[in-house]
Formats: sequence, structure tokens, C-alpha cells
Amino acid sequence: MLKNDPLEQWDRDTFLHPSTHWADFARGKAVHRIISSGEGSHIVDREGKRLLDAFAGLYCVNVGYGRTEIADAIAAQAKELAYYHSYVGHGTEASVTLAKMILDRAPDHMSRVYFGLGGSDANETNIKLIWYMNNILGRPEKKKIISRWRGYHGSGLMSGSLTGLAAFHNAFDLPLVPILHTEAPYYYRRPDVSMSEEAFSAYCASELEKMILKEGPETIAAFWGEPVLGTGGIVPPPKGYWAAIQEVLNKYDILLVADEVVTGFGRLGSMFGSEHYGMKPDIITIAKGLTSAYAPLSGSIVSKKVWAALEQGTDEMGPIGHGWTYSAHPIGAAAGVANLKLVDDLGLLENAATVGAHLRKAMSDAIGDHPNVGDIRGEGMLCAVELVSDRETRAGWDDQKPAVTAVARLLADGVIGRAMPHSDTIGFAPPLCLTKAEAEEVAEKTAKAIKGTFGS
Ligand code: PMP
Repeated sequence: MLKNDPLEQWDRDTFLHPSTHWADFARGKAVHRIISSGEGSHIVDREGKRLLDAFAGLYCVNVGYGRTEIADAIAAQAKELAYYHSYVGHGTEASVTLAKMILDRAPDHMSRVYFGLGGSDANETNIKLIWYMNNILGRPEKKKIISRWRGYHGSGLMSGSLTGLAAFHNAFDLPLVPILHTEAPYYYRRPDVSMSEEAFSAYCASELEKMILKEGPETIAAFWGEPVLGTGGIVPPPKGYWAAIQEVLNKYDILLVADEVVTGFGRLGSMFGSEHYGMKPDIITIAKGLTSAYAPLSGSIVSKKVWAALEQGTDEMGPIGHGWTYSAHPIGAAAGVANLKLVDDLGLLENAATVGAHLRKAMSDAIGDHPNVGDIRGEGMLCAVELVSDRETRAGWDDQKPAVTAVARLLADGVIGRAMPHSDTIGFAPPLCLTKAEAEEVAEKTAKAIKGTFGS
């Protein structure tokens, strides 16, 4: 901490930080860190400490920090036209260009994009569009939504209800009706160790089908899922999972929403996770990687099938009663246009695939045999190391202390990882421009931090 830094006092006295122990923070007992600058995969804090950000902020700074192409595009847009709304048919050059660029990159069966500010509000929009659609189609009872335990879809009232993590429900009276949660496709934590990946996928699909039949298929509107579970522990799906789920959804005429807030625009080494896993979503939620977080912007990409119902809806009822002041904000849109160009120009999909695989291999080589490392997993530029107290039984701890301790040690050694909430897992989601040498540094220092945590 800098000596007599006025910012530290202002911070404690004025600022309510998200996902923070507020009382401890106000008392000066919690982490307090102010970040001043960034370049590539590194950030520099106010004390001048340079850190390798192996979580890309909150898995969002995909192109890395300090990209002048995006900064210049934002500045040019702010000077030319800082704001105009997108209500009643208005738009800006940047927002229209970005919509076209998104659709050019999205799966072929997608049709149009609605813009928001962040992932949470985009998921709120999606719920409204789905309810609107079923009202238009004359099936107003088809409104329930099924998401998964361990899913993360945001912090709003409805998006927080979709989220399947206790901390986002407890003390907020969530989840709200009509949101239900089914089995997480968490192969390492499968109920029976002898199950193959395919058998576990079939089990998850049959649990989903059971829930649909119990509730009544005519009442279930949609199923929500991240192609790879993110905040719930960075968990790629077992083999055959999405095909098995899709089959159940098709059977009961239930829409699939792919929440690609983390996986969209290259994190898995493919443009979209849907494409990566052969999913055919009716709506795709996008945010983070859309602008690499240079400005807040999100979107809901709707399929041709959903669009057909929405088109019919406004024909029958007039303009849609849904909008945010900052929908398609031109500064966010200008950032998005420059960012998507950079993702292409720098070949970041390819880099995410190759360097991400290199990171997981380096991690396995460095720490895979450790008695407290239960699982090393990931996909594209995602990597997770799950800690266990016993490799045989896969037992963890009542809290996630070892992961928290290891992440603190790692930070002291100059690398940012994340102790994932609700699991004993250290997560990594570096910028997609990470180099092989940086990946090796992350693995080597993680191994050191884990060994230090467990005493050997
Ligand atoms: N969906 C997913 C899959 C996410 O990971 C997140 C954020 N981590 C959100 C939705 C919510 O996005 P936001 O925080 O921008 O509201």
C-alpha cells in the first residue's frame, strides 16, 4: 500500500465494490488494490507492481490491454458522436456496422442482434423475448426456464435466478419463479466414478427429461447453458453432452439459449462455443469478448425461428415494449468494431487454441502428479486446476481455503489466477494473445504456489 494514499481512504469510505466483504473492506481488513495501467497480458497497480493477468480481468480483456486501435476508435467516436439512442429505428454508423459484423460471424441460422450493456441485462432481455414469443404463439403457459446448478448467467433478479450458485441466491430470495435448475455437466464430480463421459452425458439428459416431464413440457419455454461452465468452476462438457441435451429439447419444443458471454468471440479457439460443440441455439448471449471490455456492450443474437415470432408479434401488437437508454451505445459499438477486427487480424482464435493447449500441458507437466491436484481441465484459452484433499475419494474441503491461499501466493509471485467460487478450483482465462512463454510462467508459478500451500 502507498503511504498516506488519499485514494485508499476514499475507496474505503465511499465505494461499495461488487462481490466484496463490505464490512471487512470498510474496516481495512480486505484486499484493496487499485490498478493503474495495462499492456498486453500485464497490468500495473498503483504501487508499480506488474502482474501477469491470467484471468483477463473477468475473462473479458480478450485482445489484451493497451490496444491503441480500440482506444483510437473510442476517442474518434466520442468526438464525432458520443451518443444517440437506438429507439424507434435510430442507430449510428458504428452500431449498424457492428450488428452486421456479429451476424457475419454467428452461426448461419442466426438472424438479428439486440444490444444491451452487460451479460446480465442481455439475459434479462432473452427471458422477455422468449416470454413474448410464447405469448404471440398462443401458448402463454409455456414460461418456465431450466438452467443448471453451477451455471452463471448474471446478478439481476431474473439473471441471478438463472445462475445456479448459492451465493447469488442466498439472502436475496432467489431464485424467482419460474426458474428451475438441473444437473451440472461436471464430469469430475459425476455421481458414479465408473460412468464414462458419454454415460454421464446421457444421465444429465435423462435428469433434464425427468424434470421436463414432471413439470409438464407444455410449461417449459427454454433451457439455458454456457457451452463451458465458467464461474461454476471452468468445466467443459463431457463428450456427447450438448447433442444429448439438444435431442431432449427438440423432443419437447424447448428453446436453447447458449450463454456465450465468456465463450463468444474466440475464448474456446472457435468464434462461438455453439459452433465448437455443434449446438444449435435459438438465442446466443454475448458480452465480454464483444468489445474485450474496452467499453460495456452486450447482445442477444436471435435465430431465424425466434425472429419469425418477434416479427409476427410487432405486426400484431406494435412496437416492442423493451429498451435501454444505452442499447447499442455508439462508444461500445465503435469499440466492438475495432475489437472484432483485431481478433481477426491478430489470429487470436488460432492463438487461443494453441497457447491454451500449451498452458494445460505445461500445467499437467508441472503439477499433474501432486497429491492435492485432482483435475486439470479446460478448453481453448481456459484452464482450471481443481484441488482435493484426497485424490482417491476426490474429497475437497468445507471451504475453498487452499485455492484462496494458492491464488494469494501466486499473486505475490506476480501472476493473477482466480479462486473460483463454490469449488476448490484455481481458474485461468488469460487474454487470447497470451504467449507460450507467458503460459509457461503461469504453469511454473502455479505449481510453486500449490506446493507452497501444501508444504511440498
Ligand atoms: N453470463 C456469463 C456466462 C457470465 O460469465 C457473466 C459474467 N461473468 C454474465 C452472464 C453476466 O455478465 P455481466 O457481469 O456483464 O452482467
